[in-house]
Amino acid sequence: MLHEREAHASEGCGTCRANRGEIPTPGGVIYQDELWRLEHTFEPIPLVGWLVLKPLRHVEMFAELTDDESATLGPPLIRRTTGAMREVLQPAKIYVCQFSEAEGFEQLHIHLIPRFADTPADLRGPRVFDLLSQATARRRNLGDLA
Ligand SMILES: [Zn+2]
Repeated sequence: MLHEREAHASEGCGTCRANRGEIPTPGGVIYQDELWRLEHTFEPIPLVGWLVLKPLRHVEMFAELTDDESATLGPPLIRRTTGAMREVLQPAKIYVCQFSEAEGFEQLHIHLIPRFADTPADLRGPRVFDLLSQATARRRNLGDLA
């Protein structure tokens, strides 16, 4: 029963489509193992270094993760990824956010977002998602991946 629900949900799921390679992400896959995939967020890119970590399996909340998915997420994946982001991007902070509210993207996905020292106060904390709205409205990347 659960498998049937997952299969139905994954058909129209943007995250599953990206995981199947049907929606390319800027720069391609950064990391993938048998359970998780790390990529840049879709275009338009709201901010350089804005990454998204998602399970390969269609689940919609942390409570649905298997023991293996749970065990590999926190210390290994989030710690190592944010460590690499700190080294490469040198942000003041790195936000780890999970909402999965956008239509078509209800699958669990975790935003890993650098916050730089010069980020204006009105774009800090949850307001960083205003950058996503701005990029979408302008239909152009605000991040520079070059
Ligand atoms: Zn999905």
